[in-house]
Amino acid sequence: MSKIVENIENVERNIENACKRGKRERNEVTLIAVSKTKPVDDLKVAYDAGIRDFGENKVQEILDKYDKLPKDINWHMIGHLQTNKVKYIIDKVCMIHSVDSLKLAEEISKRALAAGVVMPILIEINIGDEESKFGITFDTAVDFLSEIVNLPGIKVKGFMCIAPYTENAEENRIYFKKLKQLYVDITTKNIDNRIVGIDDISILSMGMTGDYEVAVEEGATHIRVGTGIFGARDYTV
Ligand SMILES: *Cc1c(COP(=O)(O)O)cnc(C)c1O
Repeated sequence: MSKIVENIENVERNIENACKRGKRERNEVTLIAVSKTKPVDDLKVAYDAGIRDFGENKVQEILDKYDKLPKDINWHMIGHLQTNKVKYIIDKVCMIHSVDSLKLAEEISKRALAAGVVMPILIEINIGDEESKFGITFDTAVDFLSEIVNLPGIKVKGFMCIAPYTENAEENRIYFKKLKQLYVDITTKNIDNRIVGIDDISILSMGMTGDYEVAVEEGATHIRVGTGIFGARDYTV
């Protein structure tokens, strides 16, 4: 069996076990296979093994792969997105996980209206307050949400975070709990009555190869697994 198929089976088993520990149903969690830098042939193997959600972080790479792969794939934009590139992917991706500025949200809104689509988006939170990471600060999340939630052409569906790199996934549990609590506070409306239009907020995109099991235990609805499926990335080629 191909290594990729074997990896998917392993990840699948781990998700199921994490769901049991977290008292959750398997169908509450979407596995996104993060295929950045990987060749189309690798994505085909994953596709044939049943994967329909792929995550990419570069606009050009999405466009290249989009053309070469089946059209029932859900493409997730998970990387930093420049406003001048929104127009290229607005009718190709199913969700943009990495919205972290008003300018970007407004551009997505404008392009979505022009394309006649409604784009689901997530607000990226820099949950560990790391200088090296994109995303807005946790403390400004509610203000930012209220600024963008009623823009036409977009639907704010929830939050995304990239937890700090660690050898010990348990260290990230606190961050996943924090993001989950933000979601609970907002959706139960006990945080701020300025926010209307939040009924759709239901997504927590959190957890990667090193920590997705903990993220699932803590309530992730979308996990983004790259290395754990496709193996290490080679950035030298
Ligand atoms: C690359 C990437 C991932 C996947 O990382 P792995 O550690 O390889 O699973 C997940 N989320 C984002 C935003 C990424 O850029």
